[in-house]
Amino acid sequence: MAKKLRVFKFGGASVKNAESIRNVASILQNERGNPLLIVVSAMGKNTNALEGVLKEHFNKTGKATEVLEKIKQFHYQVCNELFGEKHPVYDDLNDTFVEIEWVLDDEPEGYDYMYDQIVSVGELLSTKILAAYLNSQELPTQWLDARGIIRTDELYRDAWVQWEETEANVKAQVTPHLENGKFVLTQGFIGSTADNNTTTLGREGSDYTAAIFSFCLNAESMSIWKDVEGVMTADPRLFDQVTKIDKLSYREAIEMTYYGAKVIHPKTIKPIQNKNIPLYVKSYANPSAEGTMITSDVNSNYPPMIAVEKNQAMLNISTKDFSFVAEHHMKYLFEKISEKRLRVNMMQNTAISFDICVNDIDERVKDFAEAIKEDFEVTIENGLELITIRHYQKPLVESLKQNKIIKMEHRIRETVQLVMKEIPMMVRK
Ligand code: ADP
Ligand code: ASP
Ligand code: MG
Repeated sequence: MAKKLRVFKFGGASVKNAESIRNVASILQNERGNPLLIVVSAMGKNTNALEGVLKEHFNKTGKATEVLEKIKQFHYQVCNELFGEKHPVYDDLNDTFVEIEWVLDDEPEGYDYMYDQIVSVGELLSTKILAAYLNSQELPTQWLDARGIIRTDELYRDAWVQWEETEANVKAQVTPHLENGKFVLTQGFIGSTADNNTTTLGREGSDYTAAIFSFCLNAESMSIWKDVEGVMTADPRLFDQVTKIDKLSYREAIEMTYYGAKVIHPKTIKPIQNKNIPLYVKSYANPSAEGTMITSDVNSNYPPMIAVEKNQAMLNISTKDFSFVAEHHMKYLFEKISEKRLRVNMMQNTAISFDICVNDIDERVKDFAEAIKEDFEVTIENGLELITIRHYQKPLVESLKQNKIIKMEHRIRETVQLVMKEIPMMVRK
């Protein structure tokens, strides 16, 4: 029987320089002849660098071209290390840079729209380089432009996938190349509207792209290649003594990632769960190690797991005339919350007030407060952290609270959530 397709996703860290691109190729050497769709992010921190170009352009500082030049040089340097001075990939990259230069020549339009036109370039560049390198290593690879496949609405920077059209595009465009025995390589994070304007799916959205392809192609499995051994009990950058979790259920994974376990984008889980596709989180530095397997049928006693979400704001909303915060107020407030695209992570209400903890993104919190100020008194506290502990043990919760001011606390079943901030340091005179 013909082998079933698998989907691999390589994130920014796994393609951060020429050496890592060689490492990716060595992982793929073991997949020779297997049907594989590969989704790739922008190299290293290039998405952040491209956000820098956008800011300069939008603020008309005259420095956008200078910042872009650094990004160009970075990619040319990588190509130089992989291909030497002469190779068709340089022309291919130049075509992409010309596209962005046209955008920079124009007057800035809407911020979110401009964002997607500029920032999407990171994935186009990384995939062009990787495809050229794989082909040079006799790994026949077809590069595809995800913007011709992933159809979205026009919610720039956070676009929603139009599933029916996307599914038809995936099947029509990907399958013939797989049947020809080629790897198919495409970009994570990006898509386009019906009018062919580029959109992005939200920061760190490449995992989600891989899940979209997995869903549409009924993949046998999906693997995301990371700079960690697998899903750990907490972010190893923030905590010591973390351990790898070998098996995790979709439910556990969606809860952890929704509340900040940044190892997987939270939107990734639904499409693969809906088709019962196993998700592997594996280390690109140690590809033969087992990693973490995420499936439906995990019957496990989980250890405590911690997720941290930074940049939280707490809003205390109270009625001006001392009337109760009743259902009609709630309805109105939630309509505004949805309109201003706030994400509520925790909430609590008393007789005349309502507290919410939300992700503090751009100007959204201020805009929301402005929109409801006629009827409500609003105070905002920024710079908070939300910690979610699943399968908590009391001593762990107590230790996490040390030297912190606790602003809100919730306990429900096996989960504790804390919104907190550092106690300001006071130094004795
Ligand atoms: P990429 O963009 O290269 O795909 P990310 O940087 O988005 O990868 O995700 C990997 C990072 O996720 C790790 O380096 C780690 O710091 C962080 N992380 C957060 N929570 C966890 C967790 N529970 N387990 C493993 N890594 C985690
Ligand atoms: N390059 C995009 C980002 O850094 C998408 C991704 O890496 O998943 O947000
Ligand atoms: Mg990433």
